[in-house]
Amino acid sequence: MLQVPSTTAPTVHSLPSYLNADHLGPWGIFLKQVDRVEPYLGNLARWVETLKRPKRILVVDVPIHMDDGTVRHFEGYRVQHNTSRGPGKGGVRFHQDVTLSEVMALSAWMSIKNAAVNVPYGGAKGGIRVDPKTLSRGELERMTRRYTSEIGIIIGPNKDIPAPDVNTNEQIMAWMMDTYSMNQGSTATGVVTGKPVDLGGSLGRREATGRGVFTVGVEAAKHIGLEVSTARVAVQGFGNVGGVAGKLFAEAGARVVAVQDHGGTIYREAGLDVPNLLKHVQATGSVGGFEGAEVISNDKFWEVPCDILIPAALEQQITAANAGRIQARLVIEGANGPTTPEADDILHERNILVLPDVIANAGGVTVSYFEWVQDFSSFFWDEDEINARLVRIMKEAFSAVWQVAQDNKVSLRTATFIVACKRILHTRELRGLYP
Ligand code: NAD
Repeated sequence: MLQVPSTTAPTVHSLPSYLNADHLGPWGIFLKQVDRVEPYLGNLARWVETLKRPKRILVVDVPIHMDDGTVRHFEGYRVQHNTSRGPGKGGVRFHQDVTLSEVMALSAWMSIKNAAVNVPYGGAKGGIRVDPKTLSRGELERMTRRYTSEIGIIIGPNKDIPAPDVNTNEQIMAWMMDTYSMNQGSTATGVVTGKPVDLGGSLGRREATGRGVFTVGVEAAKHIGLEVSTARVAVQGFGNVGGVAGKLFAEAGARVVAVQDHGGTIYREAGLDVPNLLKHVQATGSVGGFEGAEVISNDKFWEVPCDILIPAALEQQITAANAGRIQARLVIEGANGPTTPEADDILHERNILVLPDVIANAGGVTVSYFEWVQDFSSFFWDEDEINARLVRIMKEAFSAVWQVAQDNKVSLRTATFIVACKRILHTRELRGLYP
């Protein structure tokens, strides 16, 4: 048996102010989640402090020439939360509300997610505080390239591999890959994932997160005796994640009865025509104005009669204000952090099963991992192979988490954290402390 050298527990100092749980929104939520898991970590708990401090935080100034001749400065971030299990991995978000606390939390949730599905990555995340809808295409490209150049000192195919997140897409990944490659002097496709297929991207990547949501959703439904083929589904956010998940549930026979996006909320008891709704969204940008559905208020969305609710838009959508009205038996978190801790407790008390983000939306990073592997070998798999491997990994990860939840009588969120934190801290212990 492997003998792990006994090591003295790391000395714990009080946390620097920017890591303080009381003031920092999403990061504070992450710290509370770690505290909840600590009692289940056994001997590995002595390393838990590792999880409470991101390994590396980079804040960068991103100045660009605007089309009107002025210069504007944007604030950008890249946080590598943990790299014990492998290079950092996580998306880049362009949004006007991006904060350091948010990026820190998202990077930490990436560490958990990557460990939960057992892909050989640590966790990282990046972002720029900007509303990209206010930029021209040229401004968006210059901002993306300057940001990539600034964070170029810490990213790389073996160091930290960005990917798309809110308001970033294949085109932005192509610009990031090109900028990094120009600075290196050679083409490095493996520096980002979520690229266009013609540029080293992977088949199936675009649908992967929604497919993962569907796959683990079906597994969870089985455990609570919920028949998917007759289930009623409500989806918030009908973009990359929600649109694909909604389509797959509809194909499995479920009735998608309500959909909400930034343009409003639509409802049809008999089930919406999902293929046509997807076409409508593609043509008009939102579900608003879709014929053959009733328009209901955004607030009413939370109380529509349904069996499965899929929040797949933004953070902190299910709150103490609406959790008491949710009628679903199963909530599948397609978005990152859509449920506040207070709402989590309310749903738990109401016996509504929550399939947490850190497992439910891990399909995207799983196929990102396949993309990275394919880039290294310059050998590309067909879509059936990708989907089959994705489904296998998601089912295995779900099954392990379900078992831990049963054994410890904890929520699936806490169970996922137990599985993931043990994996991360085990590698921490095996590697030992440098020097
Ligand atoms: P997207 O931009 O494709 O879609 C976002 C959707 O949310 C759109 O339908 C938009 O209209 C809707 N939306 C925006 N503001 C809203 C509001 N105020 N109320 C209701 N709906 C609103 O984004 P996406 O890639 O589908 O990401 C959605 C969520 O899933 C995010 O939390 C993201 O971090 C998470 N996620 C995405 C991936 C991925 O691979 N794309 C992977 C893991 C997690």
